[in-house]
Order: sequence, then structure tokens, then C-alpha cells
Amino acid sequence: MSRKDVPPVDYAALAQTLTFDGRARIGGQAVDALDGQRFDCHSPIDGRRLTEVARCGAADIDAAVAQARAAFEDGRWAHKAPAQRKKTLQRFADLVLAHADELAVTETLDMGKPVQYARSVDVNATANCIRWYAEAIDKVYDEIAPTPRNALALIQREPLGVVGVIVPWNYPMIMAAWKIAPALATGNSVVLKPSEKSPLTALRLADLALQAGVPEGVFQVVPGFGPEAGSPLALHMDVDAIAFTGSTRVGKQIHVMAGQSNLKRAWTELGGKSPNIVFADCPDLDTAVAASVGSLFFNQGESCNAPSRLFVEASIREAFLEKALALLPQYAPANPLLPGTELGALVDETQTQTVLRYIDSGLREGAKLLAGGERVLQSTGGCYVQPTIFDGVTSAMTIAREEIFGPVLSVLTFDDAREVVRQANQSDYGLQAAVWTRDLNKAHGVARALRAGTVHVNQYDSDDITVPFGGFRQSGIGRDKSLHALEKYTELKTTWIRIDSPV
Ligand code: NAD
Repeated sequence: MSRKDVPPVDYAALAQTLTFDGRARIGGQAVDALDGQRFDCHSPIDGRRLTEVARCGAADIDAAVAQARAAFEDGRWAHKAPAQRKKTLQRFADLVLAHADELAVTETLDMGKPVQYARSVDVNATANCIRWYAEAIDKVYDEIAPTPRNALALIQREPLGVVGVIVPWNYPMIMAAWKIAPALATGNSVVLKPSEKSPLTALRLADLALQAGVPEGVFQVVPGFGPEAGSPLALHMDVDAIAFTGSTRVGKQIHVMAGQSNLKRAWTELGGKSPNIVFADCPDLDTAVAASVGSLFFNQGESCNAPSRLFVEASIREAFLEKALALLPQYAPANPLLPGTELGALVDETQTQTVLRYIDSGLREGAKLLAGGERVLQSTGGCYVQPTIFDGVTSAMTIAREEIFGPVLSVLTFDDAREVVRQANQSDYGLQAAVWTRDLNKAHGVARALRAGTVHVNQYDSDDITVPFGGFRQSGIGRDKSLHALEKYTELKTTWIRIDSPV
């Protein structure tokens, strides 16, 4: 049988067969919360209860941190030869791929994204991230400073110790991998708190890490709610660093908690309201439309870097919108387990209501609803909202200022390059931005002027583990991915050595 004869996986059938273990993973064991509390984990596809998950609190965080500390102090992971850590993490990446279909379906059931992307994007990016940092382990060298002949100064990178990780629900595995992979690669122990809305794949990552040979106690996953489990982790006196991805509101609290406890290192990857500027001389209008619409509706619009503020030059506005509307049928909301679904379910009822409230605010503040705007497929028991486009949006409107985190595109029109850059930069956020033009000078000029961690030119969706990811302003502090992220999970230590040589 050749590769192309392999029948496609029936994800809907696979979904019926999966069972889930919602217990915390601490010290290499699957354990209930110490006080026995649990919470229900529902699928936004149809409201079905998937399992019960341990509702961990401060005592469970204490237990997990104690395990992580003990593992760090006795060197069972940190003192391993780099080549050994590398092999173990490579095995971890292999195991993620070996369980690709199970992980993809679990991610889809838990948070509603189309399984075709859970498989091709989320699972692959997770495995690739773990492998990339594994392979970097034995390629990063310490340094020797230029010193006088009678002394030697070694500049070495040491692991931080115990790293707390808190992640959101929109890319549960990828967000975890961006932090746990460089943290583990550099020899740290990790306590991960996944989002209460989508905890299931993180728990499986802990199982696979253990199976790959990551020693017990090095990587724990403690599910629970933000104030109950996240805050005790961020406040913990025996946690050396906290790596957070989530909302700007909670990110600000994380820095306060880090500062008011033990001044642990804190990095935050937060929200966005990314401007996407399409000039009339864009290289190809069809490509610009497809990328602008596709990147916004990807993951139901639940992406921190979604290009949610679209600035179109006035002379091409009509043509642009006509083409955008023509694409909408392919984004009709559907069961994300079915092949071909582009727009799945929003993560839960709360998020659905938030998105509907933003749609209402667009209408109330005078934006023109061009398409969508309705909740659909309610008889399924799931959380589905139509792909929605507002025209006539101004920068003062709520839907142009606040992160909606749903399939809602706000279209603003401009005539002047200077003015559009001013408006694009008029935001609390600065995560990503894009500019579309054939004019090289304009592309470079605008790209330089935009205040964002990443600027795309004539495309939107390129991404790679080799490049840093993070934002300016209230989009957070620090960067994930790339060798920059590897460095942040280490402390620099200088060792001076006197050389009393007779020669
Ligand atoms: P959120 O801030 O509500 O929650 C994120 C995590 O923090 C969850 O695990 C939650 O349980 C925890 N948390 C909540 N309150 C807490 C508290 N008081 N103390 C400690 N932990 C707490 O965010 P969300 O709704 O899960 O995710 C959506 C947000 O994430 C959006 O703003 C999005 O832009 C952002 N995001 C950013 C990036 C990035 O790389 N910049 C990537 C993905 C998502």
C-alpha cells in the first residue's frame, strides 16, 4: 500500500473512543487534588462532558513545587550530560508525533478548533518546538571573557531552578511547548498550570515526557483555575521564574505577584489588536484578501496575533470587500471534527457571549455589519458564531480598540500612509502588524514605523521556531521561541579564576 492509499483518519470516530485522565501529574504520578475537588470539562463542539479534572489549589501547587525543587536540587535532570537531555527530549518530540491523532482530537474536543489544523499545526508545531530546543542543547557554548594573563573569567549559563508556566486555552499545546521546551532543555524543573478551559493535552504531555525518560518530578502539570492554582504558583517563594501567556489584565497581575513575592523572573505574552494595512499597490489583491481573512478566521479568531484591524486604502475598498465576502462561505461554522471545517467552535459559552457582546457594541457604535453577526448551530449544544465583517469602523470604536478573540473583522479605510501608520500605532497593544505594498520604500518605511514585535510584509502567516515571538507595549514583556527564549531560562554566572603560573 503506498502512502496515498492510507485511508484518512476518521477523527469523529476516534473522538468517540477516547477517554481522559483529568488528574494532576505531580512527581511522576497521576493524582487527585489534595482536597478531592474536581471540575467538569465540557466540549464546546456539542456541550458533551468529556471528563472531570482535578481542581487544584495552593496545597497542590506546594506539592508540585516541592517535587520540582527536589528534582532540581539533586541534579537528576540539570546535571545530566547535555547530550543525554537532548536524546530524552528528542524522544519526547517523537512520542508527541506518535500520538498525533489522539492529541489532535483531544485538542479539538477540548477547545473547538478544526481537527485538521490541530493535527497539521498544533501537534506538529509542538513536536517541532520540543525537538528544536532539544537539538540546541549541545550547540550553545559558554564563554570566556578577555582577561589579563593571570586570570580567567568563565561566563556560564546556569538553569534558573523551578520554572512556573501558566498558559491560555487557545493553543494549549503550542503555548506550553514554547515554554517547557526551552526550560527543560536548559535543565530547569517545570510546574505547568494549563487553562481550566482546555487542560487535557497538557496532562498528556506530562505522560509523554515521563515515558520519554524525563525523570519524575522534573515536569508537573497542575490543572485548576487562575486565582486558585495560577496565583499560588506566581506568588510561590520557591519558584524562580514565571512564564505566562494570557490576557493583558492577568499579565499585569503576574508581574505584581512576581515582584511582591520573591522577585522571580517574569515574562508575559499577552493580548493583541494587530493592524493589517493593505495599500492599493499591494502585489496581488486576491492574495492579500485571502491572507487577511484567513489569518483572522484561523482558530475562530482566537489568536493573539489575529489581524483584527484591517486598514484598506480607499481606492480598493470596494474590490477588497467584494472578494472578502465571496470567501465567507468557506468559513461557515461547522463541527471541527469533520474534514474540511475551517471555522470550528468557540472555546466555551462565556467566550461566545463575549464575542456576541462585541458584535452588539459594533452595531450600537455605528459600524456597518456586512456579514455574519449571529450565533448558529445552537441545536448542537455547541458554541458557534458566524464569520463576521464590520465595515465603516473607526479607531474610536470599541471593536477597533479591544481584543475580541472571535471571528470578527473590523474594516477601516484610509487615504494617507502617514495617517494610517499613526492610527495603526494608536493601540495599547503591539504584538504583530502587516503591510501590503509593491513599493519597497513604502514597505520598509511603514514596517519600521509600526510599533509591533513582528511586522509582516506582503503576507501574514509565516512563522518559525527560529524567530522570536512577543510584543511591544501591553502585549507583554519578553519573547518566546528562538535562541533568545533559550537564554531567558538561564542565569549568567561569572567565575573568576586566578592563574599563578610560573611561566
Ligand atoms: P487569561 O489571562 O484569562 O488566562 C490565562 C491563564 O492565566 C489561564 O491558565 C488562567 O487560568 C490563568 N489565570 C487567570 N487568572 C489568574 C490569576 N489571577 N493568577 C494566575 N493565573 C491566572 O487568558 P485566556 O482567556 O486564557 O487567553 C486569552 C488571552 O491570551 C488573550 O488575551 C490572548 O491574546 C492571549 N494570548 C497571547 C499570546 C501571545 O503569545 N502573546 C498567545 C496566546 C494567547
